[in-house]
Amino acid sequence: MENAKYVYVTTPIYYPNDKPHLGHAYTTVLADIVSRWYRLIGYEVFFLTGTDEHGAKLQKEAEKRGRDPKSFVDEMSSIFKDYWRKLDISFNRFIRTTDEDHEALVRNVLNLLNERGYIYRGMYKGWYCTACERYYSDREYVVENNTPLCPIHRRPLELVEEETYFLKLSQFKDAVLKILKEADVVYPKQYADEVISKIELEGLQDLSIARPKERVSWGIELPFDSRFTVYVWIDALLNYLTGAGLDKNEKQFKNLWSNSIQFIGKDILWFHTAIWFSLLLMLGLPPPKKLVVHGYLTVKGIKMGKSTGNVTSIDDMIARYGSSDAVRFIIARIANFEKDSEVSWDIYDSIYMGDLVNNYGNLVRRVTSLAIKIFGGVVKKEVDYEHAKKVESLTQKAIEHYNNIRIAEAVKTTLDIAHETNAYLNKQEPWNKENPVETIYSALESIRLASLLLHPIMPNITSQIINVLGISTEKSLKQFMFGYINEYRVKEAPIPFKKLSMK
Ligand SMILES: [Zn+2]
Repeated sequence: MENAKYVYVTTPIYYPNDKPHLGHAYTTVLADIVSRWYRLIGYEVFFLTGTDEHGAKLQKEAEKRGRDPKSFVDEMSSIFKDYWRKLDISFNRFIRTTDEDHEALVRNVLNLLNERGYIYRGMYKGWYCTACERYYSDREYVVENNTPLCPIHRRPLELVEEETYFLKLSQFKDAVLKILKEADVVYPKQYADEVISKIELEGLQDLSIARPKERVSWGIELPFDSRFTVYVWIDALLNYLTGAGLDKNEKQFKNLWSNSIQFIGKDILWFHTAIWFSLLLMLGLPPPKKLVVHGYLTVKGIKMGKSTGNVTSIDDMIARYGSSDAVRFIIARIANFEKDSEVSWDIYDSIYMGDLVNNYGNLVRRVTSLAIKIFGGVVKKEVDYEHAKKVESLTQKAIEHYNNIRIAEAVKTTLDIAHETNAYLNKQEPWNKENPVETIYSALESIRLASLLLHPIMPNITSQIINVLGISTEKSLKQFMFGYINEYRVKEAPIPFKKLSMK
């Protein structure tokens, strides 16, 4: 175990006020792909996802349905879990902020911050969005007809004035800026620049971290003043520390936290930088190793979301493309960290048909049937070095993309292997040759490497294909060498991707 290399991967915890849609699946599948990639090359991975179950929004949602909040979130969080199972999300823990160990950690942390003098009592007056669970400053909200509106929900904000407790974020302004400017944590870097300019323009204000119980009763009680509950964002951010085992297993926590990769959407960037890095500094902990930020999924330019009613249903996608693997593949293909990704059924269809049915799927069918027809399935090692060189270089490029968390680029490079190999077959015409073992072996190696590279994205179908080739996967980087297999024993392949029915 001494030499084990660790990776800790997290998603944001989701608000379980409705079932998840493609927008939730986007972040979760990307994080799962990275988790599976590191497992495939021999790392010890701990992958955390879960649900954010406290706060006014869920309290109101439960009330609306005549339910008590706990039974409501019990039901909703299990729906999230079911969807993640359907999409083969390989989480090691599904954390809920109502979990006992998490609530205890939140109380411990708040007591500690209070003892360290980072918390003080005061009055807060500001414009509050209950949907976002946050205040908006006059620089941030939009005004329409003299009414301040939430910039995200476009709904009127509530003017709230109340006693509260503040967290001294202002004291950490310079330290947070230093992390953003020097530590290379935020990826892509443009998001660090965004936060830097916001802090330089507006400063870093102390944050109200308590809510009076008469307004928000559904939350963790403030350990040093029972009239209040803890602000949900503080509660939520701390889930990453609970998940890594802070307070429980010091050694595990160290191993995981120092190798943490956190995935978020750009809408929660401020919380995961300004507030999160300050909190960690107060606790004497370093920032995560990487904070990976992605753009929105948009439909005709508008962010996919429940409130705009433009969501793609996960069930509809699985039904249309026949497997969770295909849905995961489509997500990986549209992944964009720098920019928003415009999506539609036409876009999903063309990815599915172009990349899976006609390129990768077609290659698998062609080569396996040739191997069986010509050699009865038994193909011994004989490398075509010219083709091998091309595929090896693409394989190395794809590995580099994976290691730098450029998922869509890793996929595109892998598809180039399939393209290259389809073209290679057309040129070699092994069906016209006497003994084309070199061509068939080299094509099989290409399929194996493409399948390995696609394994984190499509774990089921690639396992089936690797099984059809009569070989197995390892957990190592070694296996990515061209010529690694001495003999193939190919069985008949099922049709991995079915043609689409008309809409
Ligand atoms: Zn809002």
